[in-house]
Amino acid sequence: LLDSVKEPLFAAYNIGHNREVKKGLADASLFKMVQCAPAVRVAIAEEFGLKLGSLTPGKMAAALRRLGFDRVYDTNFTADLTIMEEGSELIERVTQNGTLPMFTSCCPAWVKYVEQEYPELIPHLSSCKSPQQMAGALFKTYGAKIDNVEPAKVFSVSVMPCTCKKFECDRPELTDSGFKDVDYVITTRELAQLIKDAGIDFKNLPEEDFDKPLGTYTGAGTIFGVTGGVMEAALRTGYELITKEAIPDVKLDFVRGGEGVRKATVKVGDLDLRVAVVSGLKNVRPLMEQVKAGTADFHFMEVMTCPVGCVSGGGQPKVLLPKLKETAYKNRACSTYTHDDNLPLRKSHDNPDVQKLYDEFLVKPLGHESHHLLHTTYTPRR
Ligand code: SF4
Repeated sequence: LLDSVKEPLFAAYNIGHNREVKKGLADASLFKMVQCAPAVRVAIAEEFGLKLGSLTPGKMAAALRRLGFDRVYDTNFTADLTIMEEGSELIERVTQNGTLPMFTSCCPAWVKYVEQEYPELIPHLSSCKSPQQMAGALFKTYGAKIDNVEPAKVFSVSVMPCTCKKFECDRPELTDSGFKDVDYVITTRELAQLIKDAGIDFKNLPEEDFDKPLGTYTGAGTIFGVTGGVMEAALRTGYELITKEAIPDVKLDFVRGGEGVRKATVKVGDLDLRVAVVSGLKNVRPLMEQVKAGTADFHFMEVMTCPVGCVSGGGQPKVLLPKLKETAYKNRACSTYTHDDNLPLRKSHDNPDVQKLYDEFLVKPLGHESHHLLHTTYTPRR
């Protein structure tokens, strides 16, 4: 009975977000800003008959412009920003005897799992908002200032591979811009539907760039879309911030991979940093029991709920045949790494517009303004 009620209710909730986005786009008094998560660009083309895992960031940006968005920004920018904040938080916890191991906080389903199943371990979660919510807070502050528009007139939409991001944007604490930071979330499939409804010929769109500054990104930002990506991006930056030397190789194969648990020890200056990467919530319980018992042997843990990370999220194009599903996940992950390989900058701290954001607005990672706009708190839900 529960299942028969749950599905239609969930579908109605999703349709609600799409309807509101259409309404917002038609409202001439609003200034429309959109962000797209890393995993959307390696999957949306599947909805238009292109090969599984086709990489189409430029066509996606072009489609969003034709739908009527005034600024086409990118969650990859705030993925880079997350690394600046989360990396600094990890260094602070390690050097100042803070709560360890620290858990990543960019997957809302994982955060809610901790709040529900292990509320006593909430202090282990990084206080960083997810990249989606960091972008939302910046759109209605820094972004509004750049375009000289009233923050109240900014219509903030995000395109996510994830249905849980809809829940996240409705969390009452995520209003640090003075408004609801992200107004509506649509999934990859829902964006494809909007494009089809508008009669846009996706396949033949030209490649266009994202808008600057909140659409500039490095390879480290884009690998957030796969399991192990947040860890790899954090290690690329953490290594250089701590040792003040260039990391010998940005490609960190030991954290890459599919479902399950991967552990590694990384030499960062004098520190042997022990990390764990988990994909699929079923795999995390034994590690959580170790943390609870005080026997966990690592400093930092990345957890993604979906089996291969966000490329396999619930809002992505559906592939029903099990064999093809595996190919889709593999191709999307491969395209993500190819995109990283081909970008001119591959470390978050090298992102020139992130550097400019700190110079002009935030001052420094973990500073007063960063704390206000980019960090959050959690709620025990048991
Ligand atoms: Fe959403 Fe899945 Fe990505 Fe978590 S791993 S943010 S649930 S798509």
